[in-house]
Amino acid sequence: MEKTLGWDLHCHTVFSDGTRTPLQLVQEARERGLDGVAITDHDTAAGWTEAVNAARGVGMPLICGTEMSTHWPLSAGKISVHVLAWLYNPDGRQLVELFARTRQRRLERARTMVANLARDYPISWESVCDQAKEGGATTIGRPHMADALVAAGVYRTRADAFAGVLSKRGPYYVSVETPTVTEAIRAIKDAGGVAALAHGGSFARNRVVLSDDQIRACVDCGLDALEVNHRENSPEQRTRLTKLAQRWGLLVTGGSDWHGQDGKPNMLGENSTDVPTVKEIARRGAIPVV
Ligand code: AMP
Ligand code: FE
Ligand code: FE
Ligand code: ZN
Repeated sequence: MEKTLGWDLHCHTVFSDGTRTPLQLVQEARERGLDGVAITDHDTAAGWTEAVNAARGVGMPLICGTEMSTHWPLSAGKISVHVLAWLYNPDGRQLVELFARTRQRRLERARTMVANLARDYPISWESVCDQAKEGGATTIGRPHMADALVAAGVYRTRADAFAGVLSKRGPYYVSVETPTVTEAIRAIKDAGGVAALAHGGSFARNRVVLSDDQIRACVDCGLDALEVNHRENSPEQRTRLTKLAQRWGLLVTGGSDWHGQDGKPNMLGENSTDVPTVKEIARRGAIPVV
């Protein structure tokens, strides 16, 4: 069988911190010749309906999903962990509650952070909200603060703002309260979804990544897959994660973490998941692939 480009299972749109609409996502996926694409906005399923309609219109296979913000608690601090959830039942009660809670906390945190920033920079809560293209349906995050800072002429790009005042180590930063990783995975499995540890070998977000034992605990909660192929996983981490996947019978996936051209340099399809793996994800999921 001829090798195809596979599926990009990790993509963001205007329903969170991406800069493109679900229609633009499926159109670009088609232009690039991908086999299919997943919509995985942060902590929401709000973009699904639009994405499903767009995918049908364009004739592009689509997987509906979400990237959940979670954490592993440590005695001092926490490890921030992202979990990809695909093909879950969107009425899953625990999951709906977790999303609502995280989104509420994101709002509170954004208000505090923006108030901190507004003391020294020409931005306001209104100017940040102006950057949320889907209004209240948008999962708000630091990228929207970055866009407001760019609009105010403080920085040239999102990346500059993240390297500057939006940095985790900076004086304006406020963290978001999130569910634990294991709580999130249990809720995903309860809703019949397929769960993957996103960019589990990325040191861009934490000084430490999840240990083998900690990932094992996730597997015991039902974790299905490891996102091995992601630009933030180093070659060493990819080797390590691949070995763990083999040892514990986990699926290996890849995704670009696309946020649109001006959102992040990540290009759609730069990392992907092969068709047999997607077939297995589809088999495990609670809802059909579009
Ligand atoms: P938050 O979850 O609100 O703390 O913001 C984190 C989000 O910001 C991540 O999901 C990334 O998509 C985005 N992000 C992190 N670093 C950068 C960067 N250097 N440039 C653009 N977006 C970034
Ligand atoms: Fe993001
Ligand atoms: Fe992520
Ligand atoms: Zn992502």
